[in-house]
Amino acid sequence: MESCLEAGANDELSPIGEEARGPLWWRGNNEVTDADPLLPGQIRGDRQAQPRGNWFPLHRYADDPRTCRQCGTSFVFTAVEQQHWYEVWKILELAHPSRCARCRRERRAADALGATLGSAFAAVDKDPADAWAHLNLAQATLALRADRAEGDAARAIHAARRALELEATLAAAVDEVITRLRATL
Ligand SMILES: [Zn+2]
Repeated sequence: MESCLEAGANDELSPIGEEARGPLWWRGNNEVTDADPLLPGQIRGDRQAQPRGNWFPLHRYADDPRTCRQCGTSFVFTAVEQQHWYEVWKILELAHPSRCARCRRERRAADALGATLGSAFAAVDKDPADAWAHLNLAQATLALRADRAEGDAARAIHAARRALELEATLAAAVDEVITRLRATL
């Protein structure tokens, strides 16, 4: 189930004010008060639970159809999800999800691959005579290139060859990673 409530859903927010008009306006419309009856599908906002920095209180929530800025897919920021964002997570009211759940997951996975590559570079810097660190760097680069065509393939092939110079028993693994790196070029 794709949702705006999964872990990390709020790790990529639109900048405040980017879409300050449109659907956001009615959410905080000061002409709508708690005395007004809810329309079908709306739920009441609890202003005491909302962050103090809000420009205006959210009196009510309703499903908010949105378009993913990355892939263009339509998704819904539901009334229940909004209530959770602004009253449980205490996010300021002008922030909202800008990507669909699938794009958010892909970005997080890509970020994790980037972090793994960063660690691999650090390990090589720390001990340039460690054959496994060089092989690991080559494999981490391969994982990144397979995922999103990023990472320096020439640098990775160089690292794999260095691993073999340092440790002859890595020949099979080095062959494989070089072959697969070349396939990404
Ligand atoms: Zn998307």
